[in-house]
Formats: sequence, C-alpha cells, structure tokens
Amino acid sequence: MNHFEFNFFPHKLNGIRILIGIMIELGYDYPLYRPPSEANSVIFQITFGCSFNKCSFCNMYRTKEYSERPWAEIKSEIDIVSKSYPQTEKVFLADGDALNLSTEKLIQVLDYVKEKFPNLKRISCYAMPKNLLQKRSDELTLLNEMGLNMLYVGIETGQDILLKKITKGATSNGIIDACNRAKKSGFIISCMIILGIGGKKYSIEHIKETAKVVSEVSPNFLATLTLILEDGVYDEFMQKFGEPFEFLDDSLILNELEILVGSITPSSSIVFRANHASNLYSIGGNLPEDRDKMIQLIRSLKEHPELLKPRVLRRF
Ligand code: SF4
Repeated sequence: MNHFEFNFFPHKLNGIRILIGIMIELGYDYPLYRPPSEANSVIFQITFGCSFNKCSFCNMYRTKEYSERPWAEIKSEIDIVSKSYPQTEKVFLADGDALNLSTEKLIQVLDYVKEKFPNLKRISCYAMPKNLLQKRSDELTLLNEMGLNMLYVGIETGQDILLKKITKGATSNGIIDACNRAKKSGFIISCMIILGIGGKKYSIEHIKETAKVVSEVSPNFLATLTLILEDGVYDEFMQKFGEPFEFLDDSLILNELEILVGSITPSSSIVFRANHASNLYSIGGNLPEDRDKMIQLIRSLKEHPELLKPRVLRRF
C-alpha cells in the first residue's frame, strides 16, 4: 500500500500543527508516511516499516527493518498526546501494515486509544491483501467493532502478469477476496491504483483489468497515483519487470485515466480522487454519478496539456 505522503508534520489538529517538541517526544522513526486524507490525524507508530517490503516500485520503507513496537512505548505515546490533545477525532496507525499485528495486540491498542480519546470518530491504517487474508472473518469483524473502521489497501493493478512483475505478493482474485472480506466485516475501504505501472506494452490490459477488480470490490474510496520511480528502486523495478519498460507520456496517462473512469461499474458509489502529488491534474468525483463530467475534463486536458502540473512538481 504506499501511496502516501511524507509526513514531516504529522500532527495537525484544527489547523494548528502540534509543536515539533511533541514530535520529538513521540520519537517517530522516520520516514513516516500517511495517506493524504489523514492530514489531520494523530499518528501512532505501532509497527515499523512494512512486513513485506518487496513491491518493486515502492521505496517507502527500504531503510527500515519490519518490527513491532513494544506496548510500553505505544502506551506512553498515547498518554502524552491524550493529555495535550484529548479532543482528537482521527487516529492513523503507522507504519506500512499495522494490520499485520496480531488481533490481540491490535485490540490492546484500539482499546487504549478509545479510552484516552473520548471524541474519536475514526481509527485507520494501511493494510495489504495478505494482512486481510491472514485474519479470520470473525477477527476482522471484532477489530472493526473495536473501532478500527477504515483501511487503505494498495491494489496497484488488477492485471495478474503485472502483479507478478511488480512483486506485489498478491493476485487479482486475492485482492478481490481480501477487500470483500474487509467490506463484509464492516470496514470502510480506500483503495489505490497506479497509472502507468504496466508501461506502454501493458497499458490497456492494466487499466481494463484494474477497472474489473475495482468494480468487483467497489471500495468506498478510490485514488489513483501515477508511476514515478525513485532512485532507490529504479534498477530493481526494471530488473524485476523482466523486459524493456517504456514509461507512458502524459497523453497516455490521461488515456488510462479516461478508460478507467469510463470502465468502472461499481455496485455502490465510489468516491474517486486523482489528487495525489504524483498525478498530472487534480480530478475528483463520484462514480458512476460524475463519470461523464470527469471524462469531459480528461478529454479537455488532452487538448490543453499546458494545464497539467509541471513534472518538477510531481512526486510519488
Ligand atoms: S506492501 Fe508493498 S507497497 Fe505497501 S508498503 Fe509494503 S512494499 Fe510498499
């Protein structure tokens, strides 16, 4: 799940950033990431890194070894923040796959967070398909009932050849199964996909198969990112891809976006956003309700490339 923003000032409540002094006191292990929609959330790092850490496009946690944070440290940070910000409404549990923790440990965290923040409305974390498939349905339901109500799941692509090439550690059926189990257990799910991840050769298959998976899952939220390979993973991505990879230019990325928006047939409405920092232009709406409006906008952007975000301002 990547897809993410570097979170240099992770705590922003009611428009006021918490003092750096508190961040130091909290002892974050950097780099620290959170989804863009968690900009106003308090972040507790309950695991470090990613338990998988092998997706070839993802540079997020390459400098970290996965580990679970001791309960005493987590508890102490919850105590510190709850004294200064008892009115906190949203909490995000970092790092890359906090759902990898045992159900028992997660419940210990959820219980204490709820006790210390009486106004809490949402607790969320990143989740890999593997994390979801490793838990029984009754465990997922219990976690949801205990207050973990939103999960961010990286689909990246629905195309099985590409899932192998990017070493995602998941198949399209596994992704559908995992997301549907989460939804049945009561979770709000927010999924991410990556435009351009199949290069020119697999572009159309990537988008068509991704639209199918998204339709099957019908997540509450869907966000697109656009592939940018950071230096730390460029060579690995190319080597694992196993054949020459040609990046898509802006017009081909817009083609993918247009096909995606035009092909998703959800069973329930999806809040769609292409507003991540890597994207060419900020586009958003509900699917299927706003499909035509979004397609019109994408077509007009193809005719007016001068409106696109300059490359130097795009980042993954
Ligand atoms: S699951 Fe993959 S994309 Fe998500 S944080 Fe781990 S390595 Fe990165």
